[in-house]
Formats: sequence, C-alpha cells, structure tokens
Amino acid sequence: MNITVIGTGFVGVVSAAVYASFGHQVIGLDIDPAKIKSLQNGQVPFFEPNLKSLLVEQQATGNLTFTHLYPKAIQEAEIIIIAVGTPSAPDGQADLKFVKAAAESLAPHLQPDAIVAIKSTVPPGTLDIIAEIIAANTDVNFFTASLPEFLREGSAVHDTLHPDRVVIGATEDKVFARLEELHKPFNAPIVKTSPSSAQMSKYTANAYLATRITFINQIADLCEKNGADVQEVINAIGYDQRIGQHYWYPGFGYGGSCFPKDVSELAAYSRAVGEENNLFNKIHELNSKRATEMMTAFGEDVGGWAGKRVAVLGLSFKPNTDDMREAPSLTIIPYLSDQGAEIIGFDPKAKWPLQTKNFTQVEDLDEAIEDADVIMAVIEWPEVISYDYSEAKSDKKQFFIDSRNQFSPSTVKEWGFTYLGVGRKKEH
Ligand code: NAD
Repeated sequence: MNITVIGTGFVGVVSAAVYASFGHQVIGLDIDPAKIKSLQNGQVPFFEPNLKSLLVEQQATGNLTFTHLYPKAIQEAEIIIIAVGTPSAPDGQADLKFVKAAAESLAPHLQPDAIVAIKSTVPPGTLDIIAEIIAANTDVNFFTASLPEFLREGSAVHDTLHPDRVVIGATEDKVFARLEELHKPFNAPIVKTSPSSAQMSKYTANAYLATRITFINQIADLCEKNGADVQEVINAIGYDQRIGQHYWYPGFGYGGSCFPKDVSELAAYSRAVGEENNLFNKIHELNSKRATEMMTAFGEDVGGWAGKRVAVLGLSFKPNTDDMREAPSLTIIPYLSDQGAEIIGFDPKAKWPLQTKNFTQVEDLDEAIEDADVIMAVIEWPEVISYDYSEAKSDKKQFFIDSRNQFSPSTVKEWGFTYLGVGRKKEH
C-alpha cells in the first residue's frame, strides 16, 4: 500500500519506519525542512533505541522516503496517517491547530477514496471537524478513521512492532477492512470501535496510568507518616489479581509528552461537557504540585538546600529517551537554583535546555557525584541505577535521594550515605 505519515516526530518516524518494514511504500511528511533533511540523511533528530538502524534499513530498501512537500506526499497515498503534535491550549483543552492545518494542506491533493486516519491524540468529535475541513478543500470522495497510538517513548520501536492491541475507530466496513489489512502483520488483537470510542480509549488508558501514579504517591505520603514502606505495601497488594504488581511508580509524579497533557485535556474536556467536578482536575492538580512539594520535604531532610552541592542524575522524563517534555528535572533544577544550591546534572542522552544559575551539566556520572552533598537519582537510567556509589563517599555527611525507590536502603547505607526514598522510613 502507499502510505503517508504526516508529522515526523516520535510517533510519526517510528510508525513510518515500521509500516515500511512490512513492505509498504511509506512517505514521511513534515513541515520542518531541517527535520526532513536530517531524516533523508538517515539521522533521527532525537534519541529512540533501535530507531536509527530501522530507519536506515528501510531507506535502503526504497520503501521509506521523506519530504516536506504536501503534493508529492499525498497524491498517490491510499492511507494518510496524521501524527502531528496536539499540545494543550492555555485552558487545558487539546490545541488542534496542527491537526487542522494538516487536514487543510492534504485535502487538495487527495486521490479518490483515500483514508485519512488520525493517530494524534485528539478528543472525541475531532474526526467530524477534520472531515469538514477536508470536504471544504477537495471534490473527491474520502474516508476518515481514528487510529490512536499507544507506544511508549524509550521502547517505541518494540511497542509499535508488538502492540498490545490495535484500535481502529471508523464507521464504514471498507475502512475497517483496509486498516485491518494494514495492521494484520502486527499479530495483535484488533479492536474495532466507533471513532469516539477509539479517541476515548487513548485518553482513558493514559488517564488511568496517570491516576495509578498519583494514587500510589498519595499512599507513599501516608506511609511516611506512619513508618510503613510503600514498596512493601505494593508487594502486598500486588498479589491481588485485580491490582497486580506492575506499574506502581511512587516518586516525583508523571511527566513526559503525553500523561500531563492528556490528563489536563481530559479534565478540560470533562468541564466543557458540563462535568465541572471531575477526578482528572484533581489528578492534574496533585501531580502539578508533586515535585515542588517533594523538593521542599527533601530540603528539610538534608538541612536546607542553600550552599549544598547536588548531583541530579537523569534529566529526561524517563530512561532511554532524550525527551525533556514535562521532565521532573525541569521543576527540580530551577527549584534548587532558587534555593541557592550548586547543581551538577548528568544524563546519558538529554541536554539541559535552559540557562540556569549555578547549574552545570557534565558528561560523566563520576564527575557529577564528585564531592556531592546530595546525590539525587531522579531517573532510573541503567547507568544511574547500576552504578557503585561507594567511591563517591567522603568524610562529610552525604545524602542519597532515591526518588524512584530503585535502591536498597541498606546498600546505600553501607556505601556510607544517609538514605532518603519515597514512602519509606527516612533516616536523618
Ligand atoms: P512531536 O512534537 O514529536 O512531532 C510532531 C511533528 O509534527 C513535528 O515534527 C512537527 O514539525 C510536525 N508537524 C506539525 N504540524 C504539521 C503539519 N501541519 N504538517 C506536517 N507536519 C507537521 O509529537 P509526537 O510526540 O510524535 O506526538 C504526536 C501525536 O501523537 C500527539 O498527538 C501525541 O499526543 C500522540 N502520542 C505521542 C506519544 C509519544 O510517546 N510521544 C505516544 C502516543 C501518542
């Protein structure tokens, strides 16, 4: 099939390369000429494990090409997949300006009976808006569908090749049949729904996972008040098959390009349809305050941040990505700077994007922790959690903040540090 993917960000490049790997002719289209140039040269403009090799391999087969020209990308496409960004507007609702612009640009070049499928995360009702925009700019017959994406950055290639399920939201049998055919090689359950159900399923999945993180953070706070250990609690509850051991991450709260925006969009959507008093408002509010509240509490534990040399390990929002969108470090580092700490940052891939007083980023973890008063393991990069920190111990009192509960408190104590975790008994 001839497929065009519009928007070559995290989702678009991975999807384009994976569809190409199943033998389709795929064109990746973006309005950013610099991004297209780098992709044409086999360079991925961000870090995502295993993506570059897949990209280069598929370019070599001739199945995958990139362009910034709409006519060239659309005129022969049977399926057009929109994967442009959908940031939150100031009122929290999804800002659909990129999706609408893509619809307007593609419409005049459509071939008859092409399918335009939206992979971007958008609220229910968006497909009708997009269909109206396209219809106003073309005379040919076309179809629309919703194709929400569930990949995780850091394992995006794996997730796209081996999805838990593929959700197709459409109304016509012909559209289901074409999109089912496209996704058959994924060997995953295909869930056929209405467009609104498909869009709600994406928001529901992310809002549920974000709620789980917020929920366990609340439990962690209670554990700290009564001497319980949240990791022991998670282990105990996880045996309940309705609950499970997986996906419990007490810490600085959720971040990244999806959860914060999707929860705030769901909250805004709920308000817009008359559900003022909804759960998602509260989840968003609790998570927004989380990192600052934790830094205030840790500040008390370490005897104040002023004058402290603090090693912040992990700048990206999660391991195996250089994506800084809504990363906890974006709250932690400016907070420490305001409090008068000296901050040394380390990350295997991400680069600190701001000018921040008293902040230096270094290439080596050894250098970051040298002479630190406080070591903060913020993101569980393998480099951070597998490191032996005993060498970093000096004669002064040093603290080790394990913000994702990745370390054994007794090992950290043996290394000579005062251990501070989340939802665990604190040492002083
Ligand atoms: P991104 O910001 O990394 O990339 C979006 C790309 O779209 C950019 O390269 C931009 O230049 C391009 N673009 C914008 N307007 C355009 C237009 N009119 N024509 C052509 N290209 C245009 O975004 P992303 O992280 O890949 O996310 C894309 C969508 O997928 C969002 O709706 C997001 O919520 C959703 N999503 C993201 C993830 C994730 O992990 N990143 C996972 C699932 C779903």
